[in-house]
Amino acid sequence: MRKSQAATAHKTGVHPALGSQRGPQRLRALASTPVAAGVRSEAEGWYQKNWDPERLVGDWFELLANSGWGYPGWPTDWFGRGMDRTDVKSVREERRRIGALPPPSGIGPSLLAPMLFRHGTDDQMRRFLPAMAWKGDTFCQMLSEPEAGSDLAGVTTTATLDGDEWVINGSKIWTSRAGEVDYGMLLARTDRDAPKHQGLTFFLIERDQPGIEVRPLRTMTGTSSFNQVFFDEARIPADNVLGVREDGWAITRTFLALEKNSYNPEAHEGGPFGKVDLTQTCAQLQERERARRSAAAQGRGANQLIAELVDEHGHGDPHLTRAQRARLHTWRKLMGYTNQRVRASRRQGTPLPGFEGPMSKLTVSQITREQRDLGLETQGAHGMLADEDAASTQFHHFFLSSPAISIAGGTDEIQRNHLAERVLQLPKEPTLDAQPAPVEGETS
Ligand SMILES: Cc1cc2nc3c(=O)[nH]c(=O)nc-3n(C[C@H](O)[C@H](O)[C@H](O)COP(=O)(O)OP(=O)(O)OC[C@H]3O[C@@H](n4cnc5c(N)ncnc54)[C@H](O)[C@@H]3O)c2cc1C
Repeated sequence: MRKSQAATAHKTGVHPALGSQRGPQRLRALASTPVAAGVRSEAEGWYQKNWDPERLVGDWFELLANSGWGYPGWPTDWFGRGMDRTDVKSVREERRRIGALPPPSGIGPSLLAPMLFRHGTDDQMRRFLPAMAWKGDTFCQMLSEPEAGSDLAGVTTTATLDGDEWVINGSKIWTSRAGEVDYGMLLARTDRDAPKHQGLTFFLIERDQPGIEVRPLRTMTGTSSFNQVFFDEARIPADNVLGVREDGWAITRTFLALEKNSYNPEAHEGGPFGKVDLTQTCAQLQERERARRSAAAQGRGANQLIAELVDEHGHGDPHLTRAQRARLHTWRKLMGYTNQRVRASRRQGTPLPGFEGPMSKLTVSQITREQRDLGLETQGAHGMLADEDAASTQFHHFFLSSPAISIAGGTDEIQRNHLAERVLQLPKEPTLDAQPAPVEGETS
């Protein structure tokens, strides 16, 4: 979309082809927006012309968003080009080939943005999309509570309307990055008398305010990546309700479907996840990102690390190690096929990940376990050593943090329940809830 078109669209907030459509109808219409031919060469041309590593990061992110080439999968009205996954992938490949810095990734662009497209108001999109795309705002998920993790509908944090503000009291736990973000996506109870899955509302809450205290929680890796958050009369303006009041469970279901898929690297554009200094040059940020990635032994980093451990140590039984490497390779291939299915279902206009989200999350859990076991196996008894005695402190950190993958974003057991009940249509597990969760597709 050209800049002038973008400006007009942002003013009106309505794509002529979409009219007043909302929810799945709106997404299907967005998915079928015609896409220009020759995406790859168009992307290449744009990046060749505009990429300049000496440009300031903030300016580059703004240019990326306004050109539609930063988030080409977003709707044409809202900083995107309405492209399907295949074209989005082609654009990313061209960007990578040219070496250009991708736009911000993480919870804002990969989770909140699609939720806004589905449930948000035009005003919310006008405020939050630029905030996440180029103004440097970051977001966290404030859903889990000490007594409500897998069973999220049991949240007890309350939101009470006071004039044109909501007043929040209660506590959230395991909140990743809560100490550094600008906004939280918060699920709270707005009607205490309604059945469990009703009476919930989904909010966007400003994190840095007097009624919010963030206490870091230390894990066995020795680091504190998540926190407990306490709310004591914290405030949210009424227009920060996402979707409809008391319809928070429907919004949470969208969130959960998207969140499972967010473990798939393809759900992200590849830029920085957390806060970055927008006044540095793109070249400086790229250098820092490279250093950070090589220090974090996750995903592809872990593959490299394990390959080095196998080459350098190779204490384990070579036949066993070979078999484990083959199994790992097979799982990665399976992950690739799952991604292809996600792309195919998007092309057919399926609005949200269905079985692919849980499948992809379970596969990432499995790959992580296989990597952990192979890395330990190949070190033999040395695998028991920690800190500076370890063959690789990076691998040791990866080993200690590996269980988190099977818990964060819904445990493996919950993913299997989802596949069993919603996809395979097996009988639902017994519940003590007076009114069980509505069946998929009944609301939203
Ligand atoms: C690294 C990490 C980051 C996280 N970040 C965030 C975040 O940013 N924001 C946030 O809100 N939350 C976050 N979480 C919390 C995470 O979503 C929850 O830990 C998860 O949903 C499980 O909830 P729980 O810990 O309360 O476990 P519980 O729900 O108490 O489950 C305990 C055990 O019982 C099993 N179980 C529970 N119910 C069933 C069932 N019906 N059938 C079969 N088995 C069942 C579970 O699989 C699990 O093994 C994070 C967690 C981790 C590990």
